[in-house]
Amino acid sequence: MKMIRPGKMIRQVLSSLIKKPNTIKYPYVKFEMPATFRGKIKFYPEKCIGCKLCMRDCPSGAITITKVGDKKFDCEIRLDKCIYCAQCVDSCLKKALESTNEFELAQLDRKKLKETYHAQSEDGIKKET
Ligand code: SF4
Ligand code: SF4
Repeated sequence: MKMIRPGKMIRQVLSSLIKKPNTIKYPYVKFEMPATFRGKIKFYPEKCIGCKLCMRDCPSGAITITKVGDKKFDCEIRLDKCIYCAQCVDSCLKKALESTNEFELAQLDRKKLKETYHAQSEDGIKKET
């Protein structure tokens, strides 16, 4: 192993004392995730045609589309099964699914990690846990 000379080491220590840290004080300081971040999946029921390509391609069986009426579909997403790969977003030809930049999803109660988007709700994107 190569030894670092004491002089060089002291210079490194001194420079790190005046440099700004590369880390942030999360969670006190919020971090803006990049636009390409693959976070929680959001469903737009008004765009869904019920083809179920998302279900077929999901590697972890985390998404379920259920027909609830004429051209109406509910979507259940299991956040505890989802691996946030965004394959369902890529597979959906109607852009009914979207990756958001939401990542703070930890829960003590596993039941709260199930989200259902209902087609018939007033705003079309009502969620229930
Ligand atoms: S792939 Fe898109 S349109 Fe097809 S069922 Fe899934 S969300 Fe609906
Ligand atoms: S992000 Fe990946 S794991 Fe999660 S529901 Fe979509 S396809 Fe399934």
